[in-house]
Amino acid sequence: MFTQDQPRLRNWINGEFVDAASNAQTADVEYLPVTSPYNAKVIGYVPLSSTADVDRAVAAANAAFPAWSARTIKDRAAVMLRFHALLSKHADQLADMVVLEHGKNKAEALASVLKGQETVEYALSLPQVVQGKMLEVSRGITCCDTRVPLGVVASVVPFNFPVMVPMWTLPIAITMGNTMVLKPSEKVPFTMSKIVELLKEAGLPDGVVNLVNGTASVVHHLIDHPEVKAVTFVGTSHVAELVSQRCHQLNKRVLALGGAKNHMVSAPDCNIEMTSTDVVNSYSGCSGQRCMAATVLLTIGHQQELIDKIVSKSESLRPGSKAGEVGPVIDQASVDKITRYINEAEASGARILVDGRPWTQSHQEGYWVGPTVILHTNKQDAALHEEIFGPVLSILAVESADEALRIENANPYGNAACIYTSSGATADHFIKRFSAGMCGVNIGVAVPREPFSFGGWNKSRFGNHCDITGDGGVEFFSLRRKVTTKWVPQENASWMS
Ligand code: NAD
Repeated sequence: MFTQDQPRLRNWINGEFVDAASNAQTADVEYLPVTSPYNAKVIGYVPLSSTADVDRAVAAANAAFPAWSARTIKDRAAVMLRFHALLSKHADQLADMVVLEHGKNKAEALASVLKGQETVEYALSLPQVVQGKMLEVSRGITCCDTRVPLGVVASVVPFNFPVMVPMWTLPIAITMGNTMVLKPSEKVPFTMSKIVELLKEAGLPDGVVNLVNGTASVVHHLIDHPEVKAVTFVGTSHVAELVSQRCHQLNKRVLALGGAKNHMVSAPDCNIEMTSTDVVNSYSGCSGQRCMAATVLLTIGHQQELIDKIVSKSESLRPGSKAGEVGPVIDQASVDKITRYINEAEASGARILVDGRPWTQSHQEGYWVGPTVILHTNKQDAALHEEIFGPVLSILAVESADEALRIENANPYGNAACIYTSSGATADHFIKRFSAGMCGVNIGVAVPREPFSFGGWNKSRFGNHCDITGDGGVEFFSLRRKVTTKWVPQENASWMS
């Protein structure tokens, strides 16, 4: 059944690949086919791991924790330095794997690997930035504040960035001294299997990072496992909320990032050439499968020239896997969902200025929907309010800045928002009023680069309110220990002595 071209994936536990095991000795482990979005061909099989697999991985992580956490942070960061070099060496190969299993074009896949590498770069600088603090608070008495790791942490990741999102958590978590069990997305499980081999080559001790493949049941058992001290999750808001609630019931530290519906506002004084290019890149890049993709454009007044440019730039996009081309979406369910939103908007009176639906028919294989631009008249259209996660731009003309802000503020998510304008005062007005954690001025994908933390607001983020990278990651993946010390007997002791 399993061939070299269609390998059966194994879990990575205690520094080696091991077959997933069933809970009962007699039952066979189930495997899901993994397909390439480009042609829907099966490229391998991913196991639905059992609670026994989770227990085994957590035990390995727990056993590795004392020795790993006892090392100095400089020593742990040295592993990250070697891993960083290996990522550079293998970036092209990793990008090819992302192209195959996810469907990004090659340039997007490479950029996602390099963006993941940036968090590794931040992690290897941690000895320079997490010294803690110390102060003589009373004569002869010092207080110091140091960071200690939590223990075993779990990281659950989505399909849309097979390397980059795992790299949001793994490098900082382990450099801070934690050990980890990571569950890749069952839709894109292969690239992380290469990453763990590179970590081993970099000198990471066995058991510090473990991979358990599977679906929701693996996640639930990870959350419930008493030895798992903290959970990070990235995925849809519905699941993020469930994960967050389950962790809260167990008084477990959790950071759960959810979905998004990011708004862009174009003021009448925006630079039309720059804005149109940026808007098209934002909604169609990575086939719209980015939590930072801006998918609603609110034009203040009707801006025909801007719309014309967006339409012509969208129409020039071609399907494919090369830089500048638009790849497929992840699966048939995604094609169906995207198409349904376009159909519904059309039925309610919207004009489909650029129609990506013909790409579905013109490709005999794979999961394709082309860039689509919808000009709405009905403010209730679901496409304006719900996360579509495909290359679809909704345009709505609004009467004023106030109306644009009312619409943006009313959306339940809060990852990103962007204002296009030539005026600093207008930019300032919007940035202070958007209800989003990551704002852009003339930038449609306002992803903060390291050392700045990544994280949204509202229903785009649940749990303990840290951001996921940068100093937010340091805060999440460590406990603060405060130590108050006196060595010299004091004369004139006060009430604080
Ligand atoms: P998803 O919620 O379907 O799955 C995410 C992970 O959760 C997967 O590993 C999956 O196996 C697991 N899972 C699925 N159902 C579960 C359940 N009921 N209980 C426990 N675990 C479960 O998300 P996806 O489709 O893989 O990813 C796309 C979503 O991720 C989009 O909504 C996107 O906006 C979001 N996302 C958000 C960010 C962010 O930073 N806010 C970043 C990337 C992606």
